[in-house]
Amino acid sequence: MSRIPRIVILGAGYGGIVTAIRLQKELNYNEADVTLVNKHDYHYITTHLHMPAAGTDNPENARVNILKLIDEFKIDFVKSTVVQIRPHEKKVILEEGTLSYDYLVVGLGGEPETFGIPGLKEHALSIRSINSVRFIREHIEYQFAKFKREPSRTDYLTFVVGGAGFTGIEFVGELADRIPQLCKEHDVDPSIVKIYNIEAAPTALPGFDPELVEYAMKVLENKGVTFKIATAIKECTPEGVSLATGEEIKAATVVWTGGIRGNHMLDDAGFETMRGRIKVDDYLRAPGHENIYVLGDCSIVMSPEGRPYPPTAQISMQQADVCAHNLVASIRGEQLKSFVYQSKGTVASLGRGEAIGIVGSRKLKGGTAAVMKKLVDMRYLYIIGGIPLVLKKGRF
Ligand code: FAD
Ligand code: NAD
Repeated sequence: MSRIPRIVILGAGYGGIVTAIRLQKELNYNEADVTLVNKHDYHYITTHLHMPAAGTDNPENARVNILKLIDEFKIDFVKSTVVQIRPHEKKVILEEGTLSYDYLVVGLGGEPETFGIPGLKEHALSIRSINSVRFIREHIEYQFAKFKREPSRTDYLTFVVGGAGFTGIEFVGELADRIPQLCKEHDVDPSIVKIYNIEAAPTALPGFDPELVEYAMKVLENKGVTFKIATAIKECTPEGVSLATGEEIKAATVVWTGGIRGNHMLDDAGFETMRGRIKVDDYLRAPGHENIYVLGDCSIVMSPEGRPYPPTAQISMQQADVCAHNLVASIRGEQLKSFVYQSKGTVASLGRGEAIGIVGSRKLKGGTAAVMKKLVDMRYLYIIGGIPLVLKKGRF
């Protein structure tokens, strides 16, 4: 390579933006050309999206202008949508043009996993981006307006959330907080509104601490959420959902939080995937492609027990640190670093002032966990944008 190497980062989510920020610190002048591609000119804080989706926060608070996070003298930013990755040609096709690379970082995030359940793709909403949560919020508000015109249609005010994983639980917590305000605004009797959280597994938050799960369910039930546990959604139609038990729920709003898979572009590019995600090697590279790093929801990292770690913002950021290190090391001919995940714990919100979490060996619940959740969120803002971003976007 006689010219300086070209690094292209696809996606400015947790994995992509943190990689770019680390590279702009680590690389010396003229050591590499770094280009960051993202379909919007903003980064969104996915971990906040349940709030604007329910309307308890403004979507503006969950997005940050990318040019405020990167140094344009060190990183070229291209606002465009990636349409194809061509690993054998070392090229990426964008909506507007083509980029060649020597090293590629794929951080395009996940997509809703619908497991082929009929009607979900067509009729259910999902919490994935700023635009998707704006739509959900407006849709919910519109149902109240429609109910005022047709008060016999209680299905307008029936909300089904499919999947009681962390996304489902966090969203129903916010939705339950928003309902009293919407009832007041639209002069609707709150007892007409129903929120169902449906879970296929024998418990909500499968795999999480049972005592904290019980606490979470109690808090949410007290706010008006009805859980239907150990019954899967089998079909979604414009009228609502059918469950494995044979029960049908008429609902004008179905929000699917039943899991995620990797970005479809990885399958399209011919990589070997599991549910759209690439099982990366120890250095976070796609097997057989020493110049392609895969991060976040597009990747699978196995635990020492041989199970995939859950795809989270936390693991994406830790991957980004190692990916940036390995890119710099490759360019300098130095030793690559293996990725070892270090869980810092899990904290999930249950709506205003309530949360659950495990940090280290400590179980947290209620107000203490809610404060911890805010601290975790602020730590992320600090990592990507320092104190100014914490002051601007932090939810105190
Ligand atoms: P993302 O953050 O999803 O970013 C992908 C980026 O790629 C986006 O900027 C997107 O615009 C861009 N992009 C996508 N397609 C294209 C394209 N074709 N062309 C150009 N750009 C494209 N994890 C935690 O650890 N803690 C939490 O508290 C937590 N809370 C969550 C709450 C919610 C409501 C949700 C939905 C998820 C939560 N997660 C949490 C999970 C976490 O958000 C994801 O694991 C994380 O966002 C994955 O990061 P990523 O970099 O892989 O992708
Ligand atoms: P998930 O895969 O963790 O949970 C999906 C849930 O839907 C599961 O409990 C599953 O059993 C259920 N489900 C699947 N099919 C179903 C069906 N047909 N009917 C009813 N239920 C069904 O997905 P998620 O909650 O979107 O989370 C995605 C990732 O993001 C996870 O790794 C999660 O840990 C992470 N996350 C973390 C936080 C946090 O730490 N606060 C918040 C949100 C998401």
